[in-house]
Amino acid sequence: MKISEDMKNQLEQAARAIKSAKHIVAFTGAGISVESGIPPFRGEGGIWNTYDPEVLDLDYFFSHYSQSWKAIKSIFYDFLKDKKPNAAHHILSQWETKSHLKSIITQNIDNLHKEAGSVDVIEFHGNAQRLTCLDCEHLFEVRDWVFNEKAPSCPNCGGRLKPDFIFFGENIPEQAFHAAHQATWLCDLMLIIGASGEVSPANRIPEMAKSNGAIIIEINPGETLYTSKVTDIYLQGSAGKVLSDIDMALRQMDT
Ligand SMILES: [Zn+2]
Repeated sequence: MKISEDMKNQLEQAARAIKSAKHIVAFTGAGISVESGIPPFRGEGGIWNTYDPEVLDLDYFFSHYSQSWKAIKSIFYDFLKDKKPNAAHHILSQWETKSHLKSIITQNIDNLHKEAGSVDVIEFHGNAQRLTCLDCEHLFEVRDWVFNEKAPSCPNCGGRLKPDFIFFGENIPEQAFHAAHQATWLCDLMLIIGASGEVSPANRIPEMAKSNGAIIIEINPGETLYTSKVTDIYLQGSAGKVLSDIDMALRQMDT
């Protein structure tokens, strides 16, 4: 079969590139969490087909605080509570200690990279596991108390609490923005995993890596905006399956 032969060659090529790279950065999107049971926001079966995105509009949130919280709670908290990292998250976490994977830039707010044990995780869009007080700027880990009330208030000052991920129209958190750019300039190999390149400004990160000379390996179930533009090695398939295959190829190279 020609297709599987091609795929095998590309896997080996990817494994060799990963083995010889000195500074690897993974750039991940919603696709890496699909195998953890988290649907993407956009497209078929996406969350925004069920919920109105206005709940993540800052003006709407302020003027309909308890109503917004009700929706936010069911979208992000009731739902994410039991989700666990999958094989893809675990392999990236192992590569951080075993290979030259230096950091992960993620667009996901589901905390699954950290739950899998990855340490250097740049959360480009924030993290749902934290809440920030809009008045005193205190940060809180999400705990059950948050949801005992209809709309939570800050235990410190009584102010309104917002999930510490960005709403529509908000800027990228400054620290994450700078960390992501630094990682992108340093890397000689970038793995695009489960990201389709539709969300700006995150979508520019692989282009920056490419223009800086990095090798781009893309792992996605279908071709994306990146595939013909920036990708050097395209591996079609689910994140968990393809990363497991690469991991196995790397182990074989070691023996
Ligand atoms: Zn406060």
